[in-house]
Amino acid sequence: MKKVLVVGEINVDLILQGYREFPVPGKEVLVDDFSMVLGSASAICAMGLARLGTPVAFLGKVGDDLLGRFCLDAMRARGIDVSRVTVDPALKTGVTAAITSPKDRALVSFLGSIGALTAADVPAEAFAGFDHLHVSSYFLQGGLRPGIHPLFRAAHGRGLTTSLDPGFDPSETWGRDLHDTLGETDLFFPNEVELRGLSATADIEAALRQLRRDRLRVVAKLGRDGAMTLEGEQLLHPPAFPVRPIDTTGAGDSFDAGFLHAWLRGQPVGACLRLAGACGALSTLGLGGTAAQPTLEEAEAFLRDSA
Ligand code: ADP
Repeated sequence: MKKVLVVGEINVDLILQGYREFPVPGKEVLVDDFSMVLGSASAICAMGLARLGTPVAFLGKVGDDLLGRFCLDAMRARGIDVSRVTVDPALKTGVTAAITSPKDRALVSFLGSIGALTAADVPAEAFAGFDHLHVSSYFLQGGLRPGIHPLFRAAHGRGLTTSLDPGFDPSETWGRDLHDTLGETDLFFPNEVELRGLSATADIEAALRQLRRDRLRVVAKLGRDGAMTLEGEQLLHPPAFPVRPIDTTGAGDSFDAGFLHAWLRGQPVGACLRLAGACGALSTLGLGGTAAQPTLEEAEAFLRDSA
């Protein structure tokens, strides 16, 4: 079975759920519920892959603190090999507070150890024994960002395939460096906003055509509108599966995991999109990014029921 190395960021999501009035400076508001869960796109994707049965190892950095231990425990409990995660007493593990209601949400993030990971933490030997390298949150990982292109090139040189989820760019400048990295990327998973930012066009199909390269497949994630990718000249646009979401945090990361799991098993693109869509939809049925991620059997049963 093909093995995946995820290199990326780890943080905690604090979910403050059910505000009636949104907090404003100088006031306190109460919420109905609170959960602390593993957050961060790279870690959520790794959790989704592990749940589906793909062997996964994670390489990243956390602080030597409660939150870091919480994250590593959650990953270990899923069977992820975290032996390549550095626990650095000089760092603090990052945290995102999500203030949510059924209507909307606001996020406040402290990046903590996320920016501290660099390509120097990923020696070429780290690829030994793996078939695929995945990275999420290109723009949030300030330390790793300039090293992602060379890392992907090195991974290709060692016979691994590569995948990238850009995540949002808080500066909204969508740097050219990412376009260069796509030259060494096999699978690219932007959502609609990210694709628009990167291609400077609002037309998804035009954006997919614009980003086209030899070995690259771009899969656009369109939330409730499903996903889109080019298969040769043909545009594939499977709709999303109808569900009643509780929390869409990490849906895109679970989608990535589903696509990767099928793709690494050599399945045709249609089957990859179906498993990805099932994993994305099912993940919205629980609070946080990882609680409702399906096993392969659960995803297949959902696909049978949806047929
Ligand atoms: P991201 O989380 O990266 O912004 P999306 O919101 O596009 O990505 O979600 C990724 C995938 O998860 C979608 O392509 C879709 O398959 C699934 N998904 C997301 N939201 C819903 C929803 N409300 N109903 C059904 N499926 C959804």
